[in-house]
Amino acid sequence: MATWTENVEEKENNLLICSICLETFKTQKYLPSLHSFCKLCIYTYIQSFVARENINNGFKCPICRKFVTMGRDCSNSDCWADELPNNHLIISMIELKAIQRLEKLCNACELNSVNQKAVSWCTICLEARCSSCENCHRKFKMTSRHKIMTLNEVQADQKSAISGLITCDDHSGEFVEIYCLNHSKPCCVVCVTMKHRECRNVAIIEEAAEVIKESKQTTEFLQLILHWKNVLKKSFEDTEKNISAVAIIGNNLVSEIESLKKSVNEHIDRLERAVKDELTIRKEERVTELTDRGTKISSLKSIVDNWHQIYRTCIHDGSEIHCLIEINKMILMKEKMASEIQTATSHFDEKSFRFERNQIVKYLQENVRSLGFINIVNSKPSTGLRLEPLCDSLTDFI
Ligand SMILES: [Zn+2]
Ligand SMILES: [Zn+2]
Ligand SMILES: [Zn+2]
Ligand SMILES: [Zn+2]
Ligand SMILES: [Zn+2]
Ligand SMILES: [Zn+2]
Repeated sequence: MATWTENVEEKENNLLICSICLETFKTQKYLPSLHSFCKLCIYTYIQSFVARENINNGFKCPICRKFVTMGRDCSNSDCWADELPNNHLIISMIELKAIQRLEKLCNACELNSVNQKAVSWCTICLEARCSSCENCHRKFKMTSRHKIMTLNEVQADQKSAISGLITCDDHSGEFVEIYCLNHSKPCCVVCVTMKHRECRNVAIIEEAAEVIKESKQTTEFLQLILHWKNVLKKSFEDTEKNISAVAIIGNNLVSEIESLKKSVNEHIDRLERAVKDELTIRKEERVTELTDRGTKISSLKSIVDNWHQIYRTCIHDGSEIHCLIEINKMILMKEKMASEIQTATSHFDEKSFRFERNQIVKYLQENVRSLGFINIVNSKPSTGLRLEPLCDSLTDFI
């Protein structure tokens, strides 16, 4: 799986590649986040974004998800891709790359769907020309003073090939001549008269650009970018580490909860066995008690049964003398027998058993809603990464 950091590294090497179609830009356009796309790619993306999210005031950058507000000039999302600016640097790089590979076709002929090999390069238009288009270009009044280089010259000296004038984003046909330092914006004369009349810090673009590459502010800004890269890389790694740590801690806590449940279960099993054992003992005691009583009663019953038989035999079959002797024998024992029967049959209460729940178990069932609680605790104080403020003007070094 490609991680986020790997993707970032890769993209740096692919400044000229559209991250939607993964090919070299065709009519490059860029967003406020400076992410670039082909015009057709971003157009298609905007259409599907607007349809999906059902909004009409902008869209999110496909890469960084930053919202791009649109619709100020035209609420129809069809024209948003056209409104996006193009990046002079990237367009120059793409053109030069094609020249390096000697694959450059004449831009003017391409517009008419004719494939004609280019021979020269206009440093102002940043376009390649075949020999016949070059001739027209030289003859045409508007372009007659444009500096033309042969493609071989361009290969030898790329810098001169792209150091020409830049056309204004807002006013096509006008060249950027001024740099407004108050707005950090390149301007054509129309821009200056329309939007930067009040600006006090404007310079001729060549003067503003003269020392930019070696300036302290530029090199310091590189340091800041590198610092930000480190901060973001480290924070991202920390975040990923934290994600795996959370997974591990989660698993550990699951085991802890399971082992708590197991030990509570084992304890309850022991309690169950103890109360069952007690029941067994009570049952046996009661059975023994009742068996003793039964034995005593049946012994008395056999005596009384025997007396009854003797009595009947005396009355039916015996003589008067027999009756006198035998019946009086029994009558003599009458008091004792009465008391024995009285003892054996009295106090007979039908005992049963009842299980009375331990109040604490009852409390556990009714009031304890969880085995425990999950709290989020700080395991390590945050490192407090340093973030320096961004310098926002070029005035310091001019
Ligand atoms: Zn594309
Ligand atoms: Zn972006
Ligand atoms: Zn030109
Ligand atoms: Zn041509
Ligand atoms: Zn302008
Ligand atoms: Zn301005």
